[in-house]
Amino acid sequence: MLDSLIRFVRDQYHTDEFIPLHAPVFRGRERELVVDTIDSTFVSSVGAYVDRFEKDMAAFTASPRAVAVMNGTAALHIALKLADVVPGDLVVTQSLTFVATCNAIAYCSAEPLFVDVDRHTLGLSPTALDAWLSEHALIDDRGDCRTRVGHRRIRACLPMHTFGHPVELDALIAVCERWHLVLVEDAAESLGSYYKGRHTGNFGRIGVLSFNGNKIMTTGGGGMLLTDEVIGKRAKHLTTTAKIPHPYEFVHDEVGYNYRMPNLNAALGCAQLEQLPAFLESKRVLAERYIEFFKGSDLQPIVEPEGCHSNYWLNGVICQDGAQRDALLKSTNDAGVMTRPIWALMTRLPLYTNALRGPLDNAEWLEARVVNLPSSVLPAGA
Ligand SMILES: *Cc1c(COP(=O)(O)O)cnc(C)c1O
Repeated sequence: MLDSLIRFVRDQYHTDEFIPLHAPVFRGRERELVVDTIDSTFVSSVGAYVDRFEKDMAAFTASPRAVAVMNGTAALHIALKLADVVPGDLVVTQSLTFVATCNAIAYCSAEPLFVDVDRHTLGLSPTALDAWLSEHALIDDRGDCRTRVGHRRIRACLPMHTFGHPVELDALIAVCERWHLVLVEDAAESLGSYYKGRHTGNFGRIGVLSFNGNKIMTTGGGGMLLTDEVIGKRAKHLTTTAKIPHPYEFVHDEVGYNYRMPNLNAALGCAQLEQLPAFLESKRVLAERYIEFFKGSDLQPIVEPEGCHSNYWLNGVICQDGAQRDALLKSTNDAGVMTRPIWALMTRLPLYTNALRGPLDNAEWLEARVVNLPSSVLPAGA
């Protein structure tokens, strides 16, 4: 089985060299547009490509407003600030995520409250959230959700669409409404993923994308906030040093952040976005081939949840147990075909060993079994 998996992956990428988990692909106008910024001298914080990238991304995701920033973590930080997360607040999230989700909560001097994920989405479980809140929370007379013990305010809910697979948004929105939580989506992995026909990142107050080098498309480093016009304006202001527009005077009306995306990176983003539909198509072809390959085996491929259209950013399988997972990891990596276990749960990090949490059975179950497989866009003509 493992030998035929290695052979199968090598056949997809037509190479006997090392196969990474996910490598960027530059087959369009990347060079042309990046060189254009150099020729124009506008490589930094001012330039037409930033505006264009924001407009193109808003159009692609059907979002009223998109605001480009220097990375996804910075976008998450600003998104939580705009969700009115203040020091001492709790923010609900999943323990099965990349650490950036939790770092953004910490930047607000808030703390994570971890609830379980669903096995079929790998993302935050609306049922687990509702169960935890029903047992441990109340709505106070100001309308804030608070823990019964300690009266800590639970301000926001930050689900993450793992590997591009959307969480159960309809149910989650209903739970957030019932408990007065602001929904912010960590859609860093789900550019090009849709829940019931609507692009992820558009369901809460704000959604966040990442264009890090390992994501489905890259700007080198970069991120984006998806939101409405009013909050988008605030986000732009906060991420550009909170400067009041003026031809020459320096007036800043609050503590701002220098989080803007340089024009150089936005140029790369414009060129990558032109190819995103082709990338998405290639990833779907690869995912279908993996699913077909694993048919009848005891490794269970991760497939898009019902009613969703996933970008299949990272393919993965669920192993029977930890021993099978370790054997898979060892033989593939020894053969130069990179595979990787899913993240260790955030609750295992020393930072969060004392964080509030509900039962995490599904997260622990997946943590012991999920392995990611090479998922780069296929070579041209493959
Ligand atoms: C990539 C990623 C981010 C953002 O990462 P940056 O490298 O800061 O752009 C945030 N959350 C998740 C789940 C991610 O995978």
